Amino acid sequence: MAGEKILIVEDNPANMELETDLLEVAGYIVCQTTNAEAGIEAARSEAPSLILMDVGLPGMDGLTAAGILLQDAQTQHIPIVVVTAHAMKGDQEKALDAGCAGYITKPIDTRAFAKSVAAFIAAAQSTLER
Ligand code: MN
Repeated sequence: MAGEKILIVEDNPANMELETDLLEVAGYIVCQTTNAEAGIEAARSEAPSLILMDVGLPGMDGLTAAGILLQDAQTQHIPIVVVTAHAMKGDQEKALDAGCAGYITKPIDTRAFAKSVAAFIAAAQSTLER
């Protein structure tokens, strides 16, 4: 839904710009962080509707950060979607095992990206209401 806040944790400037542009065009408010530690802080302080989490980050990796957020009572309800290279099947399995809502593969499909995010938010909200 337009107006909802999305937190992006991504250290690659080109990916950050592309994801941000696609979400802002779709009406989302984007909060950006470039490492896992700042992402965890922002998840707590900004209370986003969804987190897009890169896996390869400087310092703590995105899967570890996702695990921390999903075990924290303050943030465990926020859906986390891992953004990972198409070939990294192992990371995708680890993300689902950790309780992430799903994954989106890079390179980003620019036509599907915002719709995928909307679908993940809707799915998470319907789970909460059940
Ligand atoms: Mn990265």
